[in-house]
Amino acid sequence: MQNSQPHAALLVSPGMGHLIPALELGKRMATHHGFHVTVFIVAEGHASTSLLKSPNNYPENLDVVLLPPVDISAIVGPDASLTVKMIFIMRQSLPLLRSEILTMKIRPTMLIVDIFGTEAFTIADEFGVLRYVFITSNAWLLALSVYSSAAAKEVTEEHVKKHKPLKIPGCKSIIRFEDTLDALQDPNDPLLQGFIALGGVISKADGILVNTWEDLETSTIQSFRDTKLLGQIVEAVYPIGPLVRWVGQGGSDHPVMDWLDKQPAKSVIYVSFGSGGTLSAKQMIELAWGLELSRQRFIWVVRPPSDHDASGSYFTIVQSIDVDSDYLPDGFLNRTRDVGFVVPMWAPQVDILSHPSVGGFLSHCGWNSTLESIMNGVPMVAWPLYAEQKMNAALLAEEIGVAIRPKQSPVGDGVVGREEVEKMVRKIMVEEEGRAMRKRAVELKYSGEKALSKGACSYNSLSQVAKECLQCLIGS
Ligand code: UDP
Repeated sequence: MQNSQPHAALLVSPGMGHLIPALELGKRMATHHGFHVTVFIVAEGHASTSLLKSPNNYPENLDVVLLPPVDISAIVGPDASLTVKMIFIMRQSLPLLRSEILTMKIRPTMLIVDIFGTEAFTIADEFGVLRYVFITSNAWLLALSVYSSAAAKEVTEEHVKKHKPLKIPGCKSIIRFEDTLDALQDPNDPLLQGFIALGGVISKADGILVNTWEDLETSTIQSFRDTKLLGQIVEAVYPIGPLVRWVGQGGSDHPVMDWLDKQPAKSVIYVSFGSGGTLSAKQMIELAWGLELSRQRFIWVVRPPSDHDASGSYFTIVQSIDVDSDYLPDGFLNRTRDVGFVVPMWAPQVDILSHPSVGGFLSHCGWNSTLESIMNGVPMVAWPLYAEQKMNAALLAEEIGVAIRPKQSPVGDGVVGREEVEKMVRKIMVEEEGRAMRKRAVELKYSGEKALSKGACSYNSLSQVAKECLQCLIGS
């Protein structure tokens, strides 16, 4: 059965970095653009469930459906990469999505998937609904994706095999091989072919939504509109961001908030590596020493180290276990008691970043964390770990101008030494370079807020999507 209201079905792959922006997108579509929205969440750990129970309830015309968890242990081993696990979890969840849609009284008009959900387009075709992709990262990653498919030979031969920098038509920054996406690092990795194929599927979607806005990535967005540049490959790209959570949505009764209330303005650096980021044992010791030597106040979200997997906590059930001081330098917690607050596993990030005592963020550069930092006017020390995070770090440091990067890379065997950590932290918190970046972040915060306001670019992009959906409804 159909009705006259467009109905968007959103399929969300596991991970807070996918769930948080998808829920924000769903809320905006339901609140401002006349959609009925059903969000299908592919199950994962505790954090998402607690987020779903958050007191900030959803608009009336938004439903959330948790798909039952799937078991992939017979298909992939425990040591498989995060990407491989995600691909199989999503594949196994497709029959569950199909059954759910079959039982719906009012069928969707469109299916929106994230980059791990494109196999669900077969279900969209089966039900004859529009196929949209939501890129929860930036336009530059989208550019890399569609360009890698359109110019697969050049990208493989020159960038992946010869390690040459990659210039994507119309994009301001180049992608140095050292900063490239994980999937482009090894010509023999099957994920490379997977990424190339993915770009082809994304290019053919009815529309692509991206969590960015005009002022943040001007040249890349323009390139998508220019039929001589990336506009040759894709037609309908909609920058709809910045979609981020706001204060009070992250659990502000946490004790860290009382501690923050007692600290001077802009004096605290927040240190966190997203929902899955994990450091090696050696790196944790150096980071701890660097923070202590910097003599700056800090909040650090600490997880047990992992020497072989920088995304080691991604599927971990998030729970507040005590901080085990065994993996911190001897006496660190005691010595830093007056200036530091160590939070085990998971912190109320948006509440922390929006607190006036916070003046910097040492971040893994996941795109949600990046937007949350910018939308609170907080400059960053970029500490990328996996996926597209090194590209994000380069974008923030070299194009957008809101982050500094350590000289060494903290990934692989690389370890950022304590002196470098100390230098970076002091630079962002107390030196002129940090002050200039804070000013730039505040400017972008205002421009992001404006982009979302009625009649402005990101608002209009979603209105256009609503129009396309209505036309499809009328035509059907
Ligand atoms: N997050 C949080 N508390 C934490 C760690 C992460 O609230 O201790 C949230 C963070 O605010 C962000 C999301 O989880 O919205 C992580 O997404 P991001 O894209 O930054 O990184 P990912 O986890 O996907 O690598």
